[in-house]
Amino acid sequence: MEYQGILSKMATALDQDNLAHYHMQLGQDAIMVNDLIGQKITLTHTGNKYCIACQVPLKKTYQQGYCFLCTRRLAQCDICIVRPELCHYHKGTCREPQWGEKHCMQDHRVYLSNASGLKVGITKAPNIPSRWIDQGAIMALEIIQTKTRYQCGLVEAGLKAYFNDKTNWRKMLQNQVEDLDLQAIYQEHHKEISAVVDSVNEKFNDQVVWMHADPSPQSINYKVLDYPEKITSLNFDKNPCIEDTLVGIKAQYLIFKSGVINIRKFAGYEVILSTS
Ligand SMILES: [Zn+2]
Repeated sequence: MEYQGILSKMATALDQDNLAHYHMQLGQDAIMVNDLIGQKITLTHTGNKYCIACQVPLKKTYQQGYCFLCTRRLAQCDICIVRPELCHYHKGTCREPQWGEKHCMQDHRVYLSNASGLKVGITKAPNIPSRWIDQGAIMALEIIQTKTRYQCGLVEAGLKAYFNDKTNWRKMLQNQVEDLDLQAIYQEHHKEISAVVDSVNEKFNDQVVWMHADPSPQSINYKVLDYPEKITSLNFDKNPCIEDTLVGIKAQYLIFKSGVINIRKFAGYEVILSTS
């Protein structure tokens, strides 16, 4: 079979056994990537690139798939998306207030997760569990609920004093990850976390942030036949054709025998996928 289309972040879902499933949309076709694991496939970049927001043809993509103009005009490309504590909607300066109302002025969650070690993060409530799958977490625990993304960002900024907020993607892909008891860690840090939550509620003069009393962790499994001992990054700009056996999928990475490729990094790249 042959499929052609423009790469975008793969859609994900968890099944009853907590196994992550991935769909790659190419043109009209939704390809079930899990089914290709163990097979030899060819993934070829045609040389064409397009902005994932406005579809304009590009020589180079910015911020994982956008044209330069879109990175300057879209709210989804603003600095506050990476650093939500810098949300400026309340100052009346949101680049797209309607987009902000839909995406940021709604139920958000703070979580602890383990992708390469303990980390804190935030997400919109409907993006659970796909946000965790996108990061390659093997376990995650929702701990706090807030009314907006900004409040969630303030909580996360406060919690960075106690928790890491980065994933070591090499360790994540090599599966060099120790099991962690996230519930126990949450209980051990209860006092510090309460203090951060109280300070945000005080700032808003209202209860806008709630701690979960006894949350249950979510475990996530990935279909990987063989974790790489050494990480080699594949790159369509340097080598437009990957022809190799797909050995697994984790986070937004396809893991081949010869190396790994971050599909999200190449959003906007037109590709042809051939399967036998
Ligand atoms: Zn654009």
